[in-house]
Amino acid sequence: MEDYTNVKEIFGCDVFNDSVMQDRLPKKVYRELKKTIEDGKELSMEIADVVAHEMKEWAIEKGATHYCHWFQPLTGVTAEKHDAFVTAPKEDGKVLLSFSGKELIKGEPDASSFPSGGLRATFEARGYTTWDCTSPAFVRHDAAGGILCIPTAFCSYTGEALDQKTPLLRSMEAVNTQALRLIRLFGNTTSKKVTPSVGAEQEYFLVDKQKWLQRKDLIYTGRTLFGAMPPKGQEMDDHYFGTIRQRISAYMKEVNEECWKLGVTAKTQHNEVAPAQHELAPIYAPVNIAADHNQIMMRILKKVASRHGMRCLLHEKPFAGVNGSGKHNNWSLTTDDGINLLEPGKTPHENIQFLLVLTCILKAVDEHADLLRESAADVGNDERLGGNEAPPAVISVFLGEQLQDVLEQLISTGTATHSKTGEILDTGVKTLPDFMKDATDRNRTSPFAFTGNKFEFRMVGSRDSISECNVVLNTIAAEVFRDACDRLEAADDFDTAVHDLIKEYAIQHQRIVFNGNGYAPEWEAEAKRRGLPILPSMVDAIPALTTDKAVKLFESFNVFTRAELESRAEIQYEGYAKAINIEAKTMIDIATKQIIPAVIRYTTVLAESINSVKAVSASLDVSVQTSLLENASALLAQTKAAMDALSELVAEADAHEEGRDRAVFFRECVVPAMKALRKPVDELEMIVDKDMWPMPSYGDLIFEV
Ligand code: ADP
Ligand code: MG
Repeated sequence: MEDYTNVKEIFGCDVFNDSVMQDRLPKKVYRELKKTIEDGKELSMEIADVVAHEMKEWAIEKGATHYCHWFQPLTGVTAEKHDAFVTAPKEDGKVLLSFSGKELIKGEPDASSFPSGGLRATFEARGYTTWDCTSPAFVRHDAAGGILCIPTAFCSYTGEALDQKTPLLRSMEAVNTQALRLIRLFGNTTSKKVTPSVGAEQEYFLVDKQKWLQRKDLIYTGRTLFGAMPPKGQEMDDHYFGTIRQRISAYMKEVNEECWKLGVTAKTQHNEVAPAQHELAPIYAPVNIAADHNQIMMRILKKVASRHGMRCLLHEKPFAGVNGSGKHNNWSLTTDDGINLLEPGKTPHENIQFLLVLTCILKAVDEHADLLRESAADVGNDERLGGNEAPPAVISVFLGEQLQDVLEQLISTGTATHSKTGEILDTGVKTLPDFMKDATDRNRTSPFAFTGNKFEFRMVGSRDSISECNVVLNTIAAEVFRDACDRLEAADDFDTAVHDLIKEYAIQHQRIVFNGNGYAPEWEAEAKRRGLPILPSMVDAIPALTTDKAVKLFESFNVFTRAELESRAEIQYEGYAKAINIEAKTMIDIATKQIIPAVIRYTTVLAESINSVKAVSASLDVSVQTSLLENASALLAQTKAAMDALSELVAEADAHEEGRDRAVFFRECVVPAMKALRKPVDELEMIVDKDMWPMPSYGDLIFEV
């Protein structure tokens, strides 16, 4: 039997969205709530009580027994505490189900167990979650039953942001204000709001759960810490966009359905470059919703995998030697009446507003390249950035042929007079339809590429929240727009002033533009020559958060205070050191308990074989066994030595003060020692009898899902 899913019916069926609110809320309450959602008007407790009541009734109909404030602390994952709707039993022993406005808008999780980077002493445990009514509540169904999830921001007792959402919302306000100023200068009097729109393409790996269970490295760290390359990797390019296997298709179908029910517009799915790697992209949405939806999507990807006997790996580099996973953050600025500020039109050279926005973005990215790089820094991404398949750890902007040409005209003559257009695509086959090519080809190697009417920031890690990079993008855009508007609003002759400004920005910031191959080794040297920041590791990138330049930027738009920035830097250093510490200890554990014993068994078998064969006749040839034994024994000795060296370093780490000092030690001493341990082990894997190797190989993991 065909299993048809009525997409229209299930889409958003578990979301307390606008149509549910219109249906269920009294008109006056609905109008007041909309004012809060759209214009940021403060919500009265009276209104909150009515909304909470209706939300509860609706959620109970959907099968919810509990509600939770769902938030995004700086742990890298989401957090929630479930509270049942039940109240204390009355005299007759019966309970009521209740949910008040106060419970809707405010929660008080014990903040002391969440990272605060020194913003809060442990005894000051109070933290608050507050309802973000701009992102709709939803009922999630899983083994815990139905839970009404209320998206919330998370702050300390004194109002400092302890999460990803608060600064994101602040940065949206900042860019809205400044972008509105800019479009007003060009005569737009009708748009009321400018919102960053984001579509985040999510990459992931799937592996078989039974095999996953045999890999302690995957269990503890999310990535393989050992593993020799199988005879085949991704060199045939036969996985990318390849036919999706039935097991994976069944998985994707269920992922889509779960996403749709929660209003997540899962849209595009395909196999990615590496074997066992896939991608799912939603349709773009206002950035705070896109960020929440990305979290929901990651959770669904994991949950559904489990149901299908698989595990979904969201680590940035689960396997060495094949592609890692990222998240492509497609970003644009859209007005409430549907105008995209990054839309060049057919003749960009005549679109002065677009040229100003574009050159403003060049200036913003050039001036804050270090911050943008930092926003994509996480421990796993260190393994991915700078690898041969991912954007290198240098920020540059790809404009493409058409805009590059316009930019060059601006720089050389001060005025752009023409735009290159796309030509007819000639396939040489009469029966294929002719169509116009885009004016510009793509460039897959650029970390920040203009792709028609949006920028695609490709550095973000697959596990990471997209909030961090969008906080930076929104705020640096706000800053350049503000500076431009300050000048243009004061100018006597707007046309001349804007012309001069575009030219000035184009000339001053052309070094950030790079249209060539970002993976070529020469690019790094060229980037260095241009003075662009090269920050290969997370540890190198973190200081960008607390430079005077960054503090000034974020403070002037009330996105972060200096204390908040310092706390975030601290959390990142600590997170880095802790993650590498876990990886190193996992390697030591696997080497001690699994690999060394296995190799000893193998060498014993070889030695016994040599003895047995020789016992039959001393003249028999045992050179193969002997050479294998020599080789394995030598590698075993190397393994033991490397492991001891690593153990010593891990023990030494505690002597380094928590924070930057310790993170640098892990990066500079422990990480190389981990590589040194991996090398002989991977070589051993190539020679030891497969039946004796204590865990599934790369081949088993990525080719046999
Ligand atoms: P690609 O070919 O790189 O996969 P797509 O056109 O499929 O590019 O878009 C990828 C993502 O970009 C999707 O999530 C899509 O919704 C999003 N996107 C498209 N247009 C915009 C826009 N104007 N602003 C932000 N995101 C957008
Ligand atoms: Mg893309």
